[in-house]
Amino acid sequence: MKHTTNHQILIGVFVGLLIGLYIKLNPYAIGTDSIIYVADLIADIFVSSLKMVLIPVIFFSISVGIANLSGHKQSSRIWVLTFSFFFISMALAIILGLGSMNLFEPGRGISLSIFSEQLNNFHLTSIPLSGFIKQFLSSIFVNPFKAMTEGNILGVITFSILVGFAIAKGGKEFFEVKKIFNGLLGITMKIVSWIVKFSPYGVSALIIKLVSQQSPDLFITLSKFIIVIIGMTLFHGIVILPLLLYFFTKINLFILWQGAREAIMTAFATSSSSATIPITLRAVEKNLKVKSDIAGFVIPIGATMNMDGTALYEASAALFIANLSGIDLSIGQQIIVFFTAMIGAIGAPGIPSAGMVTMAMVLQSVGLPLEALAILLPIDRLLDTFRTAVNVEGDIVVSLIVQKLVRKN
Ligand code: ASP
Repeated sequence: MKHTTNHQILIGVFVGLLIGLYIKLNPYAIGTDSIIYVADLIADIFVSSLKMVLIPVIFFSISVGIANLSGHKQSSRIWVLTFSFFFISMALAIILGLGSMNLFEPGRGISLSIFSEQLNNFHLTSIPLSGFIKQFLSSIFVNPFKAMTEGNILGVITFSILVGFAIAKGGKEFFEVKKIFNGLLGITMKIVSWIVKFSPYGVSALIIKLVSQQSPDLFITLSKFIIVIIGMTLFHGIVILPLLLYFFTKINLFILWQGAREAIMTAFATSSSSATIPITLRAVEKNLKVKSDIAGFVIPIGATMNMDGTALYEASAALFIANLSGIDLSIGQQIIVFFTAMIGAIGAPGIPSAGMVTMAMVLQSVGLPLEALAILLPIDRLLDTFRTAVNVEGDIVVSLIVQKLVRKN
């Protein structure tokens, strides 16, 4: 069963690409309007249904996960391992991004003046690092109901962690609550399994929209940058992360891909790690056999904090903009970029183009012109697909490594 859905998702991607390209090349052909209308409808239903289950999935999986983990002999080890591997995988991604930008210098030879139209129409309210940290912290401790209705994932995660701890601390007293939460988690995951069945159509529709709506103008000027970014993001996803996984778990790329592809493809099509959480959770538990307490902890938190693709992109784009502006960043400045890109990736919510917002802070930290973001906005829909896919792959890899290292001891 799971394999048929898995295959259907791949077919969905392929069909979406073909139809999208057809519409792009024949925009006035009879029927294109109806195809776009239907694709839009299906894509909307798919993304909305993921968002429908998102908050209950996050709340129940984290609170149940933490409640179970706290009884685990190695619970503090699981915390430490999880955050260490989030850091390690993002650090590797940033080093890869910085290295490749220094090597290929895709901005050399392009002058900022050819982007005058984008630059003139761009207005951004910038946030300095200190403001960013304040904003980040104040979105953590909030009214949980407000957070749930507004989709403030960070707020929901914090509340769920606290509830999980409280259940664990209460021991016998809250045993019944834990049982009920477990049941409710099971119910939400049942709904997720229905959405997964619909996902080949949803993914296909999203890809039709993506391909048919791209405008190629800036793509040509920025082609070298786009190729380097996509190339390095894929390199991280196909070589670095699988090597890290293999080193610690002996699980190879093939097994990873087989188990993870429905989540990776959904991330690619939705450009949202958060919206993908229900599917990621299901993929790691059902296909890759990660225990639900570890998965329920690592996946939702990873989806908002562990973003390898975003970290790679934010660091690379900063260097690219420096390149374009004819500024050479010193090693010291690149180290600042390393850290701010990581904070930016951790702080970016798992929604489309979130990385572009936190990137303003990275640019500001080394005095680069924020207006240059205007150049990157038109190509972001495309780049976001790859980086979100790798963001989600990173979470899956970390959950597998943590499970392995915890079991071993
Ligand atoms: N779209 C990304 C995600 O959801 C975040 C980003 O814009 O980099 O993972």
